[in-house]
Amino acid sequence: NVSRLLGKTVLITGASSGIGAATALLFAKAGSNVILVARRADALKSVADACVAAHKESGVTQGGKFATIQADVADKEQVASILDKIPSDLRAVDVLVNNAGQVFVKGIEHIGDIADIDVEGMFATNVLGLIRLTQIFVKEFKARNSGHVINLGSVAGREAYAGGGIYCATKFAVSAFNGSLLKELVNTPIRVTEIQPGMVETEFSIVRFRGDTDRAKTVYDGMQPLVASDIAEEILWVASRPPHVNIAEMLIFPVNQA
Ligand code: NDP
Repeated sequence: NVSRLLGKTVLITGASSGIGAATALLFAKAGSNVILVARRADALKSVADACVAAHKESGVTQGGKFATIQADVADKEQVASILDKIPSDLRAVDVLVNNAGQVFVKGIEHIGDIADIDVEGMFATNVLGLIRLTQIFVKEFKARNSGHVINLGSVAGREAYAGGGIYCATKFAVSAFNGSLLKELVNTPIRVTEIQPGMVETEFSIVRFRGDTDRAKTVYDGMQPLVASDIAEEILWVASRPPHVNIAEMLIFPVNQA
């Protein structure tokens, strides 16, 4: 029942494309307020404009306030400044969606070619950014005695695959952090969820196989990957459960993947 999301405020990192953008749009339609965070200001602005249109079209009167914050979650100082950049009428965030993430920045990842991979950048974004932002918001949530942290993990955080060592390591770290936080916040009204998507076609797909266009072309041969809105719908569902229900983790595959 998404009516529980009416007038709620949601902060989404990585909201300029893919799963984050699709999630922002669905929360907008559901009558929530959304704070969109990412590095690309122009892309954030287009998603925010789309949110305004989606909210208007939905006819819902609650929510409909949107703000964009340009920030690199890999940068400690920029993460620390996010809270101060939230407009005062959106300061009371109800749901934090830690979605910003990177896969393979240079070519295809091979553990043997580790020098070629931006290991620090990937950890700083996928793990440190997520942890630091969670620390900031859990403090807020504790003070208000409510809140929900939703972390984007991956199937890659449950089972490592050849050639994905660094990405898998970041997602295993997300899963460990999520699991620990869940236990730490037991007996509080603060909820903690890890979303673990399988293959989703987003900008990730292009980035993931940069330098190997043949593989990029064939990776989805004979299969239908998930689309960003498939994951966004699950995030909305998780966030709209009754306050006493916590979905601790959710693994979502396309039917052709296991
Ligand atoms: P996209 O590449 O489409 O989106 C990633 C988003 O993260 C962009 O909005 C990007 O915006 C933002 N981002 C990346 N680095 C940073 C940073 N340092 N600071 C702030 N924002 C950043 O990918 P997806 O939508 O596919 O991925 C979203 C999440 O889902 C990721 O955590 C990913 O690991 C996870 N996931 C994806 C799967 C897939 O198959 N697509 C499968 C399993 C999990 P900008 O460039 O403007 O900063």
